[in-house]
Amino acid sequence: MAGIEMKNIVKQYGDGFPAVNDVSIDVEDGEFLILVGPSGCGKSTLLRMIVGLEDITDGDMIIGGKKVNDLAPRDRNLSMVFQNYALYPHLTVYENIAFPLRLAGKSDSEIDEKVREASKTLELDEHLDRKPGNLSGGQRQRVAMGRAIVRDAEAFLFDEPLSNLDAKLRGQMRTEISRLQKRLGITTVYVTHDQTEAMTLGDRVAVLKRGVLQQHATPRELYENP
Ligand code: ADP
Ligand code: ADP
Repeated sequence: MAGIEMKNIVKQYGDGFPAVNDVSIDVEDGEFLILVGPSGCGKSTLLRMIVGLEDITDGDMIIGGKKVNDLAPRDRNLSMVFQNYALYPHLTVYENIAFPLRLAGKSDSEIDEKVREASKTLELDEHLDRKPGNLSGGQRQRVAMGRAIVRDAEAFLFDEPLSNLDAKLRGQMRTEISRLQKRLGITTVYVTHDQTEAMTLGDRVAVLKRGVLQQHATPRELYENP
C-alpha cells in the first residue's frame, strides 16, 4: 500500500483552458479520497494521470514516495475499477477474478488461494462458475473489485463505478465499497459527480471546479462549512 501525492498537477489538452490546473492533494496511506465535481471539471483526467493513462503536462505524481511521472500504468501497480466493469463475458466469475494473476504467470495453486479468499470477502463464493451476463449489476461490480483485490495493488481507483446502477443497488454498493475499503485498509481514490456519494463514502473530499481544487476537507467539515 502507498499514499498518493499530487504536486501542482497540470493537464493541458491543446491550447485551451487547462483541464486540471495546479492541483495538489495528498492522499495518505489507507485513506479514502473522493474526487467530486460537475461533469467536465477534470476528475477523470486527474484519475487517469494517477493511473498513468494520461501524460502529466506539469507537476509531480508521487506514489509510495516514488515519482511515477514517467512510469507506464503496469509499473505503477494500481487497480482501476471502471464504470462498465470491463469483465470478460465469455469467462466465468472465477476466471475473471483470476485474470490478472494468470497474466502475471502465477501458479494454479496461488491463483486458487487468492481467488477463493477474494470471493469470500466479496461474498461471491457461490457464483464462481457463472458468467457475467447472468449476474446482477452489484455482483458484476463485486467481480470487478475482486479482480482489483487479487492483484495486491498499492491503491484502488474508482471512476464513477455506481453510475449505471439503480438507486437501491447504488445504496447497497456504497455501503459495500465503504466496508470493503475499511477492511482492506487500502488507499482509494474515488471519482463521482454524486454529492451523496461524496458526503457518505470517503474520509476526505476534494472538490474540483473547472480544473481547480476548490476544497479538500472531511465530509463533516464540508457539511459545517459548505
Ligand atoms: P470529468 O471527469 O470531471 O467529467 P474530464 O476530466 O473528463 O472531466 O474532462 C475535463 C476537461 O478536459 C473537459 O473540458 C474535457 O472536455 C477535456 N478533455 C478530456 N479529455 C480530453 C481529451 N482527450 N482531449 C481534449 N480534451 C479533453
Ligand atoms: P472478446 O474478444 O470476446 O470481445 P475480449 O477479451 O476482447 O473478449 O474483451 C472482453 C471484455 O473485456 C471487453 O468488454 C473488454 O473491454 C474487456 N477487456 C479487454 N481487455 C481487458 C483487460 N486487459 N483487462 C480488463 N478487461 C479487459
